[in-house]
Amino acid sequence: MTRAVINAGRGAAELRFVMAYEGLLNISSLNLEREAEIRRMPVVYWEGGEPKFIPEVPAISGVMLKHWHFRNLVELSREGGDRLCFFCSQLQAIRIPPKRVQEYYKISYGKKEIELIKNCVGEDVHGFLMTEEKEALRRESCISFSWAIGLPRLSEEYRRIVVVQHTRNVGKIPSKDEIESKIGGENADQNKRKIVEDLQKILSQLQMIYPRPYASDFYGFVSVANLSRIGVSYTDIDNSTGGLQMIDSNIRKKRQRNTILAYAKMIQGEIGANLARSLPASMPITVFLAASKKGTIPAPVHPIYPNYLVESAKLIKGVTKLFEDEYIVRIYAPYIDESVKNQITQILQDKAEDNATFVDDPYTGFKNIISFLGLEGCAENQQ
Ligand SMILES: [Zn+2]
Repeated sequence: MTRAVINAGRGAAELRFVMAYEGLLNISSLNLEREAEIRRMPVVYWEGGEPKFIPEVPAISGVMLKHWHFRNLVELSREGGDRLCFFCSQLQAIRIPPKRVQEYYKISYGKKEIELIKNCVGEDVHGFLMTEEKEALRRESCISFSWAIGLPRLSEEYRRIVVVQHTRNVGKIPSKDEIESKIGGENADQNKRKIVEDLQKILSQLQMIYPRPYASDFYGFVSVANLSRIGVSYTDIDNSTGGLQMIDSNIRKKRQRNTILAYAKMIQGEIGANLARSLPASMPITVFLAASKKGTIPAPVHPIYPNYLVESAKLIKGVTKLFEDEYIVRIYAPYIDESVKNQITQILQDKAEDNATFVDDPYTGFKNIISFLGLEGCAENQQ
């Protein structure tokens, strides 16, 4: 098994994509995972050369961010004609449902990892857990997310979580007199009376008043996508090669590309709960993107730390030099000082590709990354 894993690794390029996001997300329910609670977390910030404890900042869990990446990936895969299982195609991240649920819906997921990943991009990229077989089968997610953290350098006095009472009104609820006349007075048939009285009760209950909390903040998060894990089963050996079994290489490439594109769809803030009434008023401030071909680059430094752009560039430069890895960095940062830009350009000056590190919009950065990784213009899936 160990030898097979090593062999498979030698044969395949180890593509990796990493990202850091910093931006404003105003009046959103982004971190609302339970009915009326906005998540807040303690953090340790680094300021003036020493750690500083901050008891609470608004925070959006990595589960929430990963879920929105999953939803974007499903939509992109559906458009591209890739395979989706019953639950993933409905944007429900149930990976894998228990046997009794599968029987009820007359669906089957198979028993081997290779079958499951062939049948659905969701299980392939975002992982799954199957516990009902004799031996539990688990596939780790190919992508990982940090929490999005309200940046501690913003003063506490600007931090507010506001609870709004929303109401839902019913145009007209019949009065008692109206009901009496409708059912024929006091001697009306009891069944008829009950039906009409119940109707009045149901209509008044529809006049719902419900509180919802909203928060505004300056958030940052980082994410890593191990693109080379996509389409590879880590528990099925290919007997002819001794390596790991893989899905069709065209579909694999397409999934790698869609995984990157799903991030591009997240950065305008189309993430989180209650989008219908609280699509965040979003403004990306900096988007740091990088990729490498041997998979050695680490996650960027999280934007909660000062000077994270320069520090991330240094890290990536150092690691890729050590492992002789080919890499690309693209940064969207219209508001940073020229001196910081020059510092980063200097750090990355001898990188393999020639184009400018700084881009005028984040989407150009994503496009450059896709092209660098050789994932441009993937053929349509052949199933
Ligand atoms: Zn699925």
